[in-house]
Amino acid sequence: MYRTHTCGELRLANAGQEVTLSGWVQRVRDKGALIWIDLRDRYGITQLFLQDGVSDPKLIEQARSFGREYVLQAKGTVVERESKNPNMPTGEIEIKVSEFNLLNASKVPPFTIEDESDGGDDLRMKYRYLDLRRNPVRRNLELRHNMAILVRNYLSNLNFLEIETPFLIKSTPEGARDFVVPSRMNPGEFYALPQSPQQYKQLLMVAGFDRYFQIVRCFRDEDLRADRQPEFTQIDCEMSFVEQEDVLNTFEGLAKHLFKEIKGIEFDKFPRMTWHDAMKYYGSDKPDIRFGMKFVELNDVAKGKGFGLFDGAELVVGINAEGCAEYTRKQLDQLTEFVKRPQVGAGGMVYIKYNADGSFKSSVDKFYTADDLKKFADKFGAKPGDLMLILCGPAMKTRKQLNELRLEMGNQLGLRDPQKFAPLWVIDFPLLEWDDETQRYYAMHHPFTAPKPEDEYLLDDPSKWGEIRANAYDIVMNGSEVGGGSIRIHDRVLQNKMFHTLGFTDEQAQEQFGFLMGAFEYGAPPHAGLAFGFDRLCSIFAGADSIRDFIAFPKNNSGRDVMSGSPAPLAKEQLEELEIKLDLKTE
Ligand code: ASP
Repeated sequence: MYRTHTCGELRLANAGQEVTLSGWVQRVRDKGALIWIDLRDRYGITQLFLQDGVSDPKLIEQARSFGREYVLQAKGTVVERESKNPNMPTGEIEIKVSEFNLLNASKVPPFTIEDESDGGDDLRMKYRYLDLRRNPVRRNLELRHNMAILVRNYLSNLNFLEIETPFLIKSTPEGARDFVVPSRMNPGEFYALPQSPQQYKQLLMVAGFDRYFQIVRCFRDEDLRADRQPEFTQIDCEMSFVEQEDVLNTFEGLAKHLFKEIKGIEFDKFPRMTWHDAMKYYGSDKPDIRFGMKFVELNDVAKGKGFGLFDGAELVVGINAEGCAEYTRKQLDQLTEFVKRPQVGAGGMVYIKYNADGSFKSSVDKFYTADDLKKFADKFGAKPGDLMLILCGPAMKTRKQLNELRLEMGNQLGLRDPQKFAPLWVIDFPLLEWDDETQRYYAMHHPFTAPKPEDEYLLDDPSKWGEIRANAYDIVMNGSEVGGGSIRIHDRVLQNKMFHTLGFTDEQAQEQFGFLMGAFEYGAPPHAGLAFGFDRLCSIFAGADSIRDFIAFPKNNSGRDVMSGSPAPLAKEQLEELEIKLDLKTE
C-alpha cells in the first residue's frame, strides 16, 4: 500500500498512529541535529521529522540525499508538534519517520513549486506539469471540475440530455475560420473541427431530443486576440418548444445555482438591457455594471458655443468620475494619452472639474462660461468635487472609446472588484452587421438566428437591414460575455430569405447548409438555445483575468503549445499518405 493517508489529512486526533504517506519533496530543512521534510501532494503538505542521535543514521543519510520534487514514500508515527503552524491544516502534527522509500528522483525543477513561483510565464508553460503542482493552478482546475459537476446535475435534473456531437465535421465558412483536418481515405478532402455544435444541436431538436446540453470543446482559428484560446470549452445547450423567456429563465437559473453553490451568493432576477441601451449608456455590448458612470449625451449643452470640435461632432458624450476633481494635471494628461492610444483611438479628451468650492475649471474654459459648465454638470448630475470627462466624434466610435475610458476609470478608482459579481442579460441584438471590407451584411450571431417577429418585414427592404433586431441574447458578467444564444429560424422560407440577405445564392446555401435545411423539411420544432463559455465562466467565478489558468494545457499567445511543441511540420511520409504537396518557399 503506497499510502494510508494523504498529505493533507492528518490532525492532532491522529497522534500516535502509524501512517504511510506518499508525495513530493517540497523542501528539506537540515538544521544539523534536526531535519524536516515537507511532503506535498494534491491535498496538502505534511511535515516529516528526523532527529540526529534518535533516528536511524541511515534514514538521516537518506533524508540528506533528497532533493526538491523527489517522490517519496514515508512511514512513521504521527506526533504532536512542538511549534505548531496555525496556517496549515496539518500544522499541529508531524511524522516521526521510521522508513523512507524513494519512489523516484527528480531533476531540480526550473522554477519553485510555490504559490508565488519565481518562474516566468513561458517557463511555467513549457513545464506545465510542474506548474500544475502549484496550489493556485490546482485550485483552478478543482473549481472547474466542481462547476462542471454542478452544471451536469442541474441540467440533468431539468431533463437535459448530454449528447456528444462529432468533432470531424463539414467546414462552414461563416463566423470564424475553421481548423481543418485532411482525410487520408478521401484524398484532397478535409474535415473541419467544429466552431460550435450549432447545426448538430439543431438537428437534435429535429430529432425530438427537446433538451440537449454538452460540455464540449470548440475550435476557432482566429487571430489571437487577448485571452482567446484556439480550443476552448462551451456549455452548449438547446431546447424545443420554448420562447426567449423560457431560455433566459432556464439559464439564469443555472447561473444562479452556480453562484449559490460555489460563491454562496444569491441573486434576484438578473437585470436585462437592450443592446441599444448597452451601447448608448456603456458603449459596449458587454457592460460592466459593477459600477455606474453611465454615459451622458451632451449635444444640446455642448454645441453652439463656438467650440469647433464639439460643434462638428455627431455626438458629444461623457462620464462623471465622482470625487475626482482633485486629479492633477499629470493624471489628466495620462488619461488624455490613454484615450489617444491607437487601441482606443480618440483624438483627445475634454475635462471639466467641478471644484469643491463650486467653481469650474475645464480644458475648454475659452468657450464655455461657468453658467455653461453648470449646465454640463446638471446633465451629469455632478456634485462639487466631481470630474467630468468628455469625448466627441462619430457616435458609435466615440461610444466605444468612452467605454475604454470608463473601464480605465473604474480600474483606477477600484470599482472593478473581482470578488463582486454583476450579471445581466443583453437582449435584442441587431440581426445583421455591415462589413465595410467585404461590402456585405453578416449575421451578428449566426445565420440561424431569428429576427424579432415584429421586425421581420424589414427583411424586404435592404436599406433597413441594419435596423432589424434579432431574438438574440448574451449573458454578461463583470464586463465579459460569458454566454450567448438565440431563437432559431425553423421555417424554411424565412431561412432562405436570411441566406439571401447574407449574400448566399440558393446553390451556395444548399451546398453549405443543405443537410440542416433538408432536415427542416421533416418537421423542425420551434427551438432556441445558448452556449456559455465555460473557461471564461470559471475564470470569472475565481475572480481571475485570464482563462488560460483554467485550462490544464493551454496554448500561448501565438497558438502554440510550447510544452509539446505543436503545431509542428509533418514527416514527408505522412504528407504523402495524405496526398498533400507542400510548396513552401524556402529562403
Ligand atoms: N453556437 C453559438 C455560439 O457558439 C451559441 C448558440 O447560439 O447557442 O456562439
